[in-house]
Amino acid sequence: MKRHVVIIGAGAVGAISALEALRRGFRVTILEPGEPGGEQAASYGNAGWLSSHSVIPPALPGMWRRLPGYLADPLGPLSIRWSYLPQALPWLVHYLLSGWTAARVEHTARALRPLLIDAPALHRALAEEAGVGALIQHSGLLHVFPTRADFAAESLSWEIRRRVGIDWIELEGAALRDREPDLDPRYRFGIFVAEAGHCRNPGAYVAALVAHANAQGASLVSSQATGLRIEQGHLQAVLTAGGEIPCDRAVIAAGARAKPLAAAAGDAVPLDVERGYHVSIAGTNRGPRTPIMVSDRKLAVTMTERGLRGAGQVEIAGLARAPDWRRAEVLRRHLLGLFPDLPRDLPAERVKTWMGFRPSMPDGLPCIGRASATPDVIHAFGHGHIGLVSSARTGRVVAQLLADVEPEIPLAPFDPRRFGA
Ligand SMILES: Cc1cc2nc3c(=O)[nH]c(=O)nc-3n(C[C@H](O)[C@H](O)[C@H](O)COP(=O)(O)OP(=O)(O)OC[C@H]3O[C@@H](n4cnc5c(N)ncnc54)[C@H](O)[C@@H]3O)c2cc1C
Repeated sequence: MKRHVVIIGAGAVGAISALEALRRGFRVTILEPGEPGGEQAASYGNAGWLSSHSVIPPALPGMWRRLPGYLADPLGPLSIRWSYLPQALPWLVHYLLSGWTAARVEHTARALRPLLIDAPALHRALAEEAGVGALIQHSGLLHVFPTRADFAAESLSWEIRRRVGIDWIELEGAALRDREPDLDPRYRFGIFVAEAGHCRNPGAYVAALVAHANAQGASLVSSQATGLRIEQGHLQAVLTAGGEIPCDRAVIAAGARAKPLAAAAGDAVPLDVERGYHVSIAGTNRGPRTPIMVSDRKLAVTMTERGLRGAGQVEIAGLARAPDWRRAEVLRRHLLGLFPDLPRDLPAERVKTWMGFRPSMPDGLPCIGRASATPDVIHAFGHGHIGLVSSARTGRVVAQLLADVEPEIPLAPFDPRRFGA
């Protein structure tokens, strides 16, 4: 009889884990209380970047000096809500320490590179299999800076990228203008990373992957996992609001809400959330030809199927607090500034805003590996800023762990126990 795996959560990580588990001969149940790839998932509203070069963790040396600013400015690119500070403090300490030295940043980059490499090609193959190949574009990605000196100010990150094998092309002045004629001419320097790509509609991509898994025999159960029944070191069932689902294996791919499930599997992980926002403007062809990262705004701008999307912001405020929609308004103003030809008098129905929860470990590395309480449970969460791009290889590795096959990349850096018991 086929072994039965329950995949908890149908974001990008869960959807691809389900498909890869089917490929390995498992009977698959996907457990998801919302729409697969729906607005509740971080996978819905991200910038769509398949940035195989995103190997640099969010915290960098010297960042602690900016901490007072993060607390003082609620609308800056990174902010910490005062009321959440006591809860966030241990996570923040780990976060700052993980980027304390250049050597630590490089260690992270070397761990992430095998997880991200070839991501656009892996996603393209998955999308084609699901009948939505055109959603994945091997477009390259562009980082823009006001001047070359602003790029030089980020030299540590780019030197490390170079050392782990990432290449790029510099574009200056007219070369950048020719490439991005709609962009505010204030931006005079660009870095084009050809190996990267993007997804034109991440929510639709995930929905299509789940529909494809369904067509291949996976069942979709609309419920929430509330716990795990583990007896004598073996998983017996996943507990849900609607009763137990007996199974041999489970994958915790519940994104920002994985922490209590990981604890039920024996691992107290320091998972928190970095909230992010997007604003999208429908019905415009003014915008970037290639998705761009605007260095001084910390904003990713992507032309998606749903319109021009500006995504970014990091807000440390936990899961429960209401969104601060002023942040989306900041993003809208940035978009209008970046692309001066965008119409100013946009009717409300053309502008959509969204807030989502990046499931973030403090060191910028996900948790991928077997649980402490039983090897039958696999952790696959905590992908932070890079959960879309890294989901393709994560899904493959999850299925290798399920099938007791040697994983294709080293998993030690992603050990869920790396912060201790
Ligand atoms: C503004 C923003 C921009 C971003 N841009 C990018 C980008 O350009 N590229 C990139 O690679 N990443 C990006 N990210 C990060 C990326 O979106 C996430 O890392 C990724 O989507 C996480 O995927 P996931 O499958 O782990 O979680 P999610 O997509 O959040 O999915 C988790 C699913 O689990 C379900 N769930 C939760 N609890 C339970 C439960 N108890 N039982 C069953 N199901 C449950 C949820 O309903 C949800 O559908 C961005 C994030 C944000 C917020």
